[in-house]
Amino acid sequence: MRIGVLALQGAFIEHQNMLNKLGVDAFTIRNLKELSQEMDGIILPGGESTTMYKLLKDLKMESLLKNMISYGLPVMGTCAGLLLLAENIHNFESAFLKTMSITAKKNAYGKQLGSFKTLGTFNNQENIPFVFIRAPYIEKTGKDVEVLAVVDDKIVAARQNNQLATAFHPELTEDLTIHKYFLSMIKSNI
Ligand code: GLN
Repeated sequence: MRIGVLALQGAFIEHQNMLNKLGVDAFTIRNLKELSQEMDGIILPGGESTTMYKLLKDLKMESLLKNMISYGLPVMGTCAGLLLLAENIHNFESAFLKTMSITAKKNAYGKQLGSFKTLGTFNNQENIPFVFIRAPYIEKTGKDVEVLAVVDDKIVAARQNNQLATAFHPELTEDLTIHKYFLSMIKSNI
């Protein structure tokens, strides 16, 4: 199994390390050629969604990435990655790839003080560490979207078929639950 990690900006090394711990071959994607390789899944990391999307456009990677996801490539978007996937971003001028039927709220916990850590339940597994850094949350889900985690009545993780989105950063903890879940999505796809 080979998984690509978008590495234009943000917390991509940490995702690579998590995948390596799980024995998965993870490679970084920095340009169109690297995006065009064979892969079984892709991770869109945290960072800054506007900057990441601008780089995707400038590097002519945006439409291929969108097509790959629309045609079923398993994808995990964390934090800014969630925002890249969202069909709508309620408090922002536009959305980005728009492949996932969710409405997100950007910087939903405030810009500066919005960083915190908590334990939550993910897909019925309890006591999973969630790290939020200027995170969004999901305000609305469309059909086929399964809610996987809720914190203080806000949806913070969801899945729609091949797409997994988390508002928090699983790669900044020691806990492999979320990455294992993503691998199980890939295994059922190949
Ligand atoms: N606030 C960032 C954004 O709007 C996301 C923060 C993160 O990825 N940690 O894209």
